[in-house]
Formats: sequence, C-alpha cells, structure tokens
Amino acid sequence: MTEKINCLIIGSGPAGYTAAIYAARANLAPVLYEGMLPGGQLTQTNEVENFPGYPNGVSGMQLMDDLRQQAERFGTVINYGMVTSVDFSSAPYSVVIDEETHLKAETVIIATGASAKYLGLPDEQKYAGSGVSACATCDGFFYRNKIVAVVGGGDTACEEAIFLASLAKKVYVIVRKNYLRASSIMQERVMTHEKIEVLFETETLGLTGEKVVQGIDLLQHRSLPNERKSHLEIDGFFLAIGHKPNSDIFKQWLETDQIGYIKTIDDTPKTAIAGVFAAGDVADNRYRQAITAAASGCKAAMEAEKYLNEKGF
Ligand code: NDP
Repeated sequence: MTEKINCLIIGSGPAGYTAAIYAARANLAPVLYEGMLPGGQLTQTNEVENFPGYPNGVSGMQLMDDLRQQAERFGTVINYGMVTSVDFSSAPYSVVIDEETHLKAETVIIATGASAKYLGLPDEQKYAGSGVSACATCDGFFYRNKIVAVVGGGDTACEEAIFLASLAKKVYVIVRKNYLRASSIMQERVMTHEKIEVLFETETLGLTGEKVVQGIDLLQHRSLPNERKSHLEIDGFFLAIGHKPNSDIFKQWLETDQIGYIKTIDDTPKTAIAGVFAAGDVADNRYRQAITAAASGCKAAMEAEKYLNEKGF
C-alpha cells in the first residue's frame, strides 16, 4: 500500500525538526523520517553552548530531544527509517523507506545533513566525546589553555586552528602533504600564528590516554630518508578533513556541487524541482551550524506551505 503525505521531512537534525514544527503548526500534517542517527550530528556533541535560548548550555542529546518533543507537540508523525530510493519525476513524489514502505509526497523537505569525515582509526571511536571532535566551534571552548591537534590542510582546518588558537595554549596542525590546500590568506594566518605549529608530511597513527585523549602517535615523512615516528602530548584531537553531505540518494534528480551539497535557488531552500526543498547541512557548505540549519528548516516549511496553498491543498 502507498501512503499519501502532504509534507514529508527526511532527516532529524535541527533542520528537520524545525521544518516539522513549522509544517505542523501550518496544518501540513508532516511526517518525518529519522535516519540512521536520530537527532543528527548534534547528538554526538557533549555540550552545545551557542544555541540561543539555553543560557547555561545544553547537551546535544537534550537539545535534539527538546526539538523532537516540540515537533511532536503539534502533531508531527515521527517514524524511524532510511530512505532507500526516490523518484522526483512528477508530483506527488515517490519515496521508498527501507525498501518496503512506499510513500507519495506532495512536498519533500530533504534535511539529511552532512557527516564529518574521519580518518578511520579505531581510536577515533574509542575516544569519541572524550577528546575527539569534528567541530571546533562546538567543542573548542573545552580546550581553553590546553594543547590540541587539528588534522587537515584545507580552509576548514585552518579556520578551526585559528579559532582553537584563540582558546588553547598550543595548536598543532597535522597535514599529510608538504603543503596546505587552504586559500593563501588562511595559509598565511596559520603559518604566522604564534600558537600554531604546522607539521607537514605527517600522519596520525593513533591516540593515547587513560579514558580521555592525552597524546598522539605520528608518522612523519613516510618513505623518505627522514621518516620517523614521534609522539606529542595533546588534550584534544580535531578532525577537519572535510564533510560529506548525505545527498547520494538524491543526486539522480537534484543538482549538487562538486562535493555533493544540494544546490538551492537564490538563498531559499527551493531546489529546481517544485515542491522539493533542501534544508540544513545537506545544502550548506558555508555555515554548518545548528542554528543556521534550524533557520533553513523553517524556511523550507514556509515554502512548502506556500507551494501547497498555490496547488490548492
Ligand atoms: P578540503 O577538501 O578543502 O580539505 C581537506 C583537507 O583534509 C586537505 O588538506 C586534505 O589533504 C585533508 N585530508 C583529507 N582526507 C585526509 C586523510 N584521510 N588524512 C589526512 N588528511 C586528509 O575540505 P575543507 O572542509 O577544508 O573545505 C571544503 C570546501 O569548503 C573547500 O572548498 C574550502 O575552500 C571551503 N571552505 C571555505 C571556507 C571559507 O571560505 N571561509 C571555510 C571552510 C571551508 P590533501 O590536500 O592531501 O587532499
């Protein structure tokens, strides 16, 4: 049987839940599907101190739970399931969940987020939330006067290193090549910052520490005459090797940029397909903050309402 839905929201981060709150209050009877990580990336952050409305900070879990409850309060139906295929060739749009539940949706709000890339070391799992982070803006504050390492040589790594250097005592930037890929202005800022030391041709072998990160094992100059292993004492390990937007399943229908971020029209969450919207990190390569994601979820729901009104729903 195919279920008919007015407003389908895919994803349960700040963008998805905020879209749900607005869509539910606008009587769009939204149905939201949580994906593999209900609550999204924020549930992996210990404490959120920059989301307005929480003067004493809030745990990522609590924040997402609050948003979920707020969405449910106005009647959003929240289901668990992964979108396994979509067909946006004509409205109502076909969406299949877990290869078995068939939906027909008049509007679709894609809020599937992005996932930070990790190196794939077992220690990243071992110390998750205990010194390993992929978001300096979220977690940097906890490293005031401490020593941290940032992995990556792009603009994100440089930005995060500079941000962390405003708090931490010392910041190592670990770069696998012998050059930074970041824009020249960011390179210069990093290279001349007194608290930042860039280690080129350096790979992370593993992390050490009792319960929390206390050190990092490195391999420098692999396969070169000066190859050597080294160890540094650090308190925090930040990944900044890029994000991967969770857009693969939509790429057949929607244009994305080179990295995979869904392209939207004129600063709105509208995509090139009428009635299909993209909100939050899946369409935002620039800000990637909980509050900006929430704002775009709001906009997407308002656009969905307008679209449905114009179609006479
Ligand atoms: P990038 O892809 O630009 O850089 C990723 C960095 O991580 C590279 O130095 C890369 O090394 C390194 N890296 C990737 N995989 C590994 C690995 N397995 N081990 C070690 N190092 C690894 O990603 P960013 O997130 O920095 O930037 C994405 C885009 O967003 C870019 O276009 C950037 O310019 C833009 N951006 C712009 C900003 C701004 O304008 N203010 C701020 C932040 C980002 P290698 O070079 O060897 O591949």
